[in-house]
Amino acid sequence: MTDSATANRETLGFQTEVKQLLQLMIHSLYSNREIFLRELVSNASDACDKLRFEGLHNAALFENNPDSQIRIAYDKAARTLTIADDGIGMNRDEVINNLGTIAKSGTREFFSRLSGDQQKDANLIGQFGVGFYSAFIVADKVTVTTRRAGENADQGVRWESDGGGEFSIEMVGKDTRGTEITLHLREDQDDLLDGQRLRGIVRKYSNHIVQPIVMFKEEWKDGANVVTDEDETVNQASALWARSKNDITDEQYKEFYKHVGHDFDDPLAWSHARVEGRQEYTQLLYIPARAPFDLWDRNARHGIKLYVRRVFIMDDAEQLMPQYLRFVRGVVDSADLPLNVSREILQESKDIEAIRKGCTGKVLGLLSDMAENDKEKYAKFWEAFGRVLKEGIGEDYANKDKIAGLLRFASTNADTPEETVSLKDYIGRMKEGQEKVYYVTADTFNAAKNSPHLEVFRKKGIEVLLLSDRVDEWALSYLTEFDGKQLASVAKGGLDLGKLEDEAEKEAQQKEADEFKPLTDKIKASLAERVKEVRVTHRLTDSPACLVADDHDISGNLARLLKAAGQNAPASQPILEINPQHPVVLRLKSEEVRFDDWAAVLFDQALLAEGGQLDDPATFVKRINQLMLEIGGH
Ligand code: ADP
Repeated sequence: MTDSATANRETLGFQTEVKQLLQLMIHSLYSNREIFLRELVSNASDACDKLRFEGLHNAALFENNPDSQIRIAYDKAARTLTIADDGIGMNRDEVINNLGTIAKSGTREFFSRLSGDQQKDANLIGQFGVGFYSAFIVADKVTVTTRRAGENADQGVRWESDGGGEFSIEMVGKDTRGTEITLHLREDQDDLLDGQRLRGIVRKYSNHIVQPIVMFKEEWKDGANVVTDEDETVNQASALWARSKNDITDEQYKEFYKHVGHDFDDPLAWSHARVEGRQEYTQLLYIPARAPFDLWDRNARHGIKLYVRRVFIMDDAEQLMPQYLRFVRGVVDSADLPLNVSREILQESKDIEAIRKGCTGKVLGLLSDMAENDKEKYAKFWEAFGRVLKEGIGEDYANKDKIAGLLRFASTNADTPEETVSLKDYIGRMKEGQEKVYYVTADTFNAAKNSPHLEVFRKKGIEVLLLSDRVDEWALSYLTEFDGKQLASVAKGGLDLGKLEDEAEKEAQQKEADEFKPLTDKIKASLAERVKEVRVTHRLTDSPACLVADDHDISGNLARLLKAAGQNAPASQPILEINPQHPVVLRLKSEEVRFDDWAAVLFDQALLAEGGQLDDPATFVKRINQLMLEIGGH
């Protein structure tokens, strides 16, 4: 407490993150400075929505004035701009919390990603959502006077800051509920003190705001402050989603998205529809262009704004969207739900289930459409949200096939992980005689691409899907076939190429299996418990050996993922397969003295090649060195 100009005035420090955010924002968003008005009007509108909702249960909050509007006043002489609302307002604690800290989940993680590079950080900050603090882009001092609805007139709070490290706070009188934010403009911001200019900004960014926005001019005339009501309501002031599609421009859809999505960028796509049937509702759903910084944060706010007959009910109604579509933003406005619906009720409501089903169908339809008709856009979507969408394979049984159609995979036919293929396209270009969709899973794209399990497929020119997302193993365990074709891991079970192999090949293989029986038996005896079985394979051309999982066991990759996640993987032994053509294997046939070392190295290198970890790396290294010396002729 450093300031005591008024008895109850205190000076408090901003949370470190706020200081960082302020610095960053002032510098990196300057070229976009007019967005401050959108952010403040958006907050004012949210505050009016909250009042309307709380007022449903407690009419006293309206203080005999149920209408809410947003007022923008400018004063050329004082060089100030004021944004006032009749919303819910804030009490002292709320002011300190809301305007002194950043409460968003993932904040720390967000700040750890800032690079110091202004251009890059400016992009990030858009994802984070700029909000109230954007006032400091144009103002060098901001004064907030607010009173929570329903409190006495002496319970007003004044907050003030110059955007440095601190803010002051004191109790003041305030007759009307709601919040008034006065911006003391920076030197070079006088162009904002103009009704025409301000109306332009409001129409550009805030036309969709439901509350009327009214403009005032304040002047000092003949020794008194004269306030002139400049004109009628500046904005359209009707719920955008309730209007007919034909009356809404793309620009308006985009601006509305920035409001509901707390995003800086345009959305990738949207779907606006009025649904009639068992449930009557309007939905306006958006697919963002990029992932929010907290997409993987389980506690992140997500979901849809729920309205009932235009009355705002709640933010983040996660019941309206399945988890795997958590990136979707937008509004659902129900005509049938009761106004006093709570989160608890939502959880059990059959009506909500019907709405969720409808919304899910809409989003999947929108995505299918995009995948079909705008491949470039879909690639962008996939890059941002593909990994999340994959969760749907396991989560949404009813839509599994639809989601499977939306999946994209890297493949041995492409050079980079970005060039992807759909299951449909894969099947369309399968080789003659090929009956299955083949895939390999690994930790990284490169490990998948270079997996020894692919060797025979490469030789025969058969395409294999390369899966390296963590979620792939899990998702694919729910997807055993697509369009009548079985999906088969190349690292599981015996190699069965079906009609891709001819009779002669099969016969030759059987002969080799018999011929190598003594060797495979001997290796099995040497490795004992480490392997379930040792057998000859034809899947290898370059490598001497590889590991495969038995048909009903979990793959090595999945076992490693589970272990990394701290979960118990069911114990399963791999099968060691050896390449009967490989010189190392042929050499092993005649090895007597160091057979156990050779067998152990064969096993260990197969484990390494598929991205596994050795139990006892030191012994492996010792054995390798020993073998190198022997080759050297010592
Ligand atoms: P966000 O709006 O994304 O939560 P902001 O920094 O814009 O972040 O605002 C922080 C919080 O301050 C809001 O969540 C809200 O609780 C409160 N707030 C901001 N403006 C107002 C206002 N005009 N009336 C009431 N509360 C407000």
